[in-house]
Formats: sequence, structure tokens, C-alpha cells
Amino acid sequence: MTTPPNLPALLADERQRFLDQHPRSLALAQAAQQHFLFGVPLHWMRDWPTPATLFVREARGVTLTCADDLNHADFCLGDTGAMFGHSPAPLAQALAEQAARGLTCMLPAEHTPEVGTLLAETFGLPMWQMALTASDANRFVLRWARAITQRPQLLVFDGCYHGAVDDTLVDRDPINGATLRRPSVLGQVHNHHAFTRVVPFNDLAALEAALSDGQVACLLAEPALTNCGLVPPAPGFWEAAQALCQRFGTLLVMDETHTLSTARGGYAKAHGLAPDFFVAGKAVAGGLPCALYGFTAEVTERMRVAKDAAPEGHSGIGTTLAGNALTLAALRAALTHLHTEASYGHMLDLAGRLEQGLNHHIATHGLPWTVTRLGARMELQFMPHTPRDARDVVDHAQPELESFTHLFMLNRGVLLTPFHSMMLLSPSTQVADVDRLLAAFDALCVTLSP
Ligand code: PMP
Repeated sequence: MTTPPNLPALLADERQRFLDQHPRSLALAQAAQQHFLFGVPLHWMRDWPTPATLFVREARGVTLTCADDLNHADFCLGDTGAMFGHSPAPLAQALAEQAARGLTCMLPAEHTPEVGTLLAETFGLPMWQMALTASDANRFVLRWARAITQRPQLLVFDGCYHGAVDDTLVDRDPINGATLRRPSVLGQVHNHHAFTRVVPFNDLAALEAALSDGQVACLLAEPALTNCGLVPPAPGFWEAAQALCQRFGTLLVMDETHTLSTARGGYAKAHGLAPDFFVAGKAVAGGLPCALYGFTAEVTERMRVAKDAAPEGHSGIGTTLAGNALTLAALRAALTHLHTEASYGHMLDLAGRLEQGLNHHIATHGLPWTVTRLGARMELQFMPHTPRDARDVVDHAQPELESFTHLFMLNRGVLLTPFHSMMLLSPSTQVADVDRLLAAFDALCVTLSP
């Protein structure tokens, strides 16, 4: 479907509707301009397709109440940070208890061994280190991988996003496969083409070619691309990709920051894969700034050797607040009460209901759209088939239609994840929330039907 010709008029109506409904957010947006760049504490918060920033009064479970006292069913969930719901009770309680007993000491809290046991049991790797963000965790893993393999190259998939990690913020030349600067990255002075290789997702021949000279320290990958729409792995792709990494001595790093939504313990564990490193952030401690990386016993030995061989001084790995007492308390509560089979059972059941409902409306209205689901996460894609790689997504991009969809749904009390059209289910999501989304989506389909 090409973009409907009346889309600009429809969009103008929705923008006006937002402004009419949100006088208080509008006033706050104007006030915040005075001391915050673009009027927000993080400039991405202006990337929602709303004509003014939506300010939040409170978020609990999956109900987000805005400054104008309107309730929204939240399917964005802080772009996965709040995957287990906003402020789950066991987490709020653990935080309150720890808050009065020390926040950060540069020494491990006494429940550290217990948290280690919980991590090993939940994610299936024996050894762990902590960071504050998934970006940091990826950066640190990259250093370790290069240090222990003594290889300079990093390999990533085209369309990847692993956070604010310079080495990964590259694009792939569609003609000759060369690594390109990502033009949107600000202040970039290094050209990473010398040390980062990029191949298309789901392309085993390209993967083999990139690994075959034995210079690649690690393949840093999400199990499915989740940051350019949702691109699932083709059947058998990961088994073959993992075997190639092993054959060429390249470490496999699974960044499961988003794919924790697949199943308890993440995608790799659920699919019997055996990565050398596992990375997670965002929701892992229920939305507190917390990230972690796990690794195998073999990698542990190699890390010890590399650290012993290095002279005294800065390792370039770690930040002062990593592993702090407050975060550790949150992580313990999250691993005990949130990363449970019951949580995932509920999330996956509701995700099935939502996927079915979306597909029903798409089919009823004859729209050439696709829903791609990975566990509790799914993506509405304005293209007629499941994408195979990032290029496929780019080739079918419809940014105006996507912006309109977000604004239309938001104006009817449903939050989708900005930047693409992701919907995430949490243990707090109820059938009524799903049905609210589906009713708004049906109205959208009616509005856009040919
Ligand atoms: N890895 C993946 C797969 C991500 O999607 C993101 C953020 N979207 C990150 C890492 C970085 O997370 P953070 O911004 O919390 O550092």
C-alpha cells in the first residue's frame, strides 16, 4: 500500500487532538525549555511523534498517567526498561529497604553470592560482572573479547543497535559490503571501518567470509534484530552461525537486552545456544540502572590470564557506581520475583492474544502489513512479509504512516514504542489493556483502509 493521499490531513487532525487533550503537558514542555536542551532531560524524549512532549505524572503496572490526568495503557514500557511493569511491588519494597542502608560503597554488599547464584540459575552462565547500562556492558565485553583473543576486529550485523558503543555505530555499504560511518552519529572523529566489520543478518555466507581470516575477536549480536523493526533469525541460522564462530575461534556475544522478552532466561537459553558472553540491561533489575554480562568458565580463565598479564593501572572496564548496593538489591528482588515462569507464562499468553487480534484486523481490512512476534515482544511492520534483514526493513520504511499510527494510538490511550512500532507485554498487562489496544488498532485500520 502506498501512503494514503489524505495522510497529511489526518496527521494534522491528530496533532490538534493531542494539543487539545494535553494543555498541562504543553505548559510543562514550554517551561522545561528554559533549562533543558529541547525541553527534556534526554534529547531522545523528543523523538515521539507528538507535537509536544508528553509529561508523566505516574506510572504503575502498565498504566501511565500523564500530567493531564489521562490514563494510557503502556505497551512501550520504557522501551523495555519496564518490561516487568512500572514499579513492581517487590522491587519498590526492596529499594525502600536498601535506600536507608547504604547506596554505594565500592565494596560488595553481603548478598552478592546469593545474587550470583540467582544469575547463574536464571541465565545459565556461571560467572558475572555488572555495569550500569547495556551500552557499558557491551563496551566492557568488547574490551575483554579483544584482550583475551588478541584479535582486533569486531563483527556486527547491519542494522544493529547495542547502545552508545562507538565501535558498533556503523552502517554497511549495500553495494560492496564495506563498513561505513553512521552519518547520524554526532561528534564522530574515528572511522571504525578499520576494526568493525558488518554483515547482513541471516546471511551465513557473508558471516563465514567475515570470520574466515581469524581476525575477529567477537560477533556481537542480538538473537533477532530488534532495533530496526523486528527481524527474526531464519530457522537454523543461529545453530550454523554459532558453529562458524567456534570454527574460526570467534567469541559469540549475545546481547539479550531486548530479547529477554523471549522466555525466562532469554533467547539463547530457550533455544539451546551456548554463547561465550551474555549481556542484558534495561529490565534485568526491573528498570533500575543495571546491566550485567555473564561468561563461561573457559572465558573466565582467559580473562584471568589477560588481567594478570596487564600492568597495574586503568583497565578501561567498569564505572564507579557499577554493582552498587541499591542496584544489587533491585537485582536480587527482580531475579526472585520478576524473572519467573509465572511472569513469562502470563506475558506469552497475552502476547498470543494480541498477535492474533492484530492479524485479524489486518486481514479484515485487507492491509498489507505484518506482525512479527518474539515471545512477549511484537512489531507491527508496514510491509507485506517478515523482513529478512535490515535492508529489507529500510526498503519498506513508511515513516509518515508510522508516526501517524503512534499518534493515533496515543490519542486513544495506547502507547507504542517510538522509533519503530513495538508492543511489549508485561506481567501487569491485563486482557482489558490488550483489548483497548485492539479497539484503537481497529479504528486505525478503518481510518486507513483503502
Ligand atoms: N543493546 C540493545 C539490544 C539495545 O536495544 C539497547 C538500547 N535500545 C542497548 C543495548 C543499550 O541500552 P542502554 O541505552 O540502556 O545502554
